[in-house]
Amino acid sequence: MKYCRFLHDGEARYGLVEGQGEEQRITRLLLASPHLAGGDLEELPSRKLPPLRLAEASLFAPVEPTKIVCVGRNYREHAAELGNEVPSEPLIFLKPTSALVGTGAEVRRPPISQRVDYEGEMGVVIGRACRHLNPAEDVRPFILGYTCVNDVTARDLQNKDGQWTRAKGFDTFCPVGPLVSDEVDPWSGISVQTRVNGELRQDGNTRNFIFPLEVVLRHITQFMTLFPGDLIATGTPKGVGPVVAGDVMEVTVAGVGALRNQVVDEPAH
Ligand code: MG
Repeated sequence: MKYCRFLHDGEARYGLVEGQGEEQRITRLLLASPHLAGGDLEELPSRKLPPLRLAEASLFAPVEPTKIVCVGRNYREHAAELGNEVPSEPLIFLKPTSALVGTGAEVRRPPISQRVDYEGEMGVVIGRACRHLNPAEDVRPFILGYTCVNDVTARDLQNKDGQWTRAKGFDTFCPVGPLVSDEVDPWSGISVQTRVNGELRQDGNTRNFIFPLEVVLRHITQFMTLFPGDLIATGTPKGVGPVVAGDVMEVTVAGVGALRNQVVDEPAH
């Protein structure tokens, strides 16, 4: 199943999405948050809607997480391109939920940074609370679905600060969307691509993760509880690079769709 979060009668609501590609339509209004479904979207009450083309809907980020947990350096070639060692266990950091925006929203480049990079990633949305997942446990029942994330990063501040909160945490630095789908399988390999102004810049595949999802989820849940709706950004492939005002970034996760955001310069305050 696929769902989005869209403007309906002046409110942000969740809607079921049916169809493929350009023919995708929002066909049902979900009457409860998908994060209350206990991981089973089929159980949610819904009401039929006059079909609305996804391309014509005003979309919000399709997640309301208590936290955004990110994996750094989860693709070997990306670690190498920034001159970093391949880590021996998952490298975890957080982005604030205030950074979230949906597809179509502007990403604001703060005047304090001279280099803002895109990082296209697959996102995992948690469906059931989990803590201390053990090695024998199948992690799939805890996952509600998958989405596209752009882990926008002020690269100069990341290098300068020694830790990443500011560099990763500016408002608008976490575009997510356009929808969440449980119809793809990262274990069998999903293409993750980023384009800037239509030009391909990143071309990765989830089968090349250094740490597969079960390792990532077990690692995170050894030290924090993941709640329904929490978002995991699973790391970016090689090919990160800077963007400037006017650039359009597009992150595509095969089977999920394209997350598109234009960059603007935020004026000095
Ligand atoms: Mg990243």
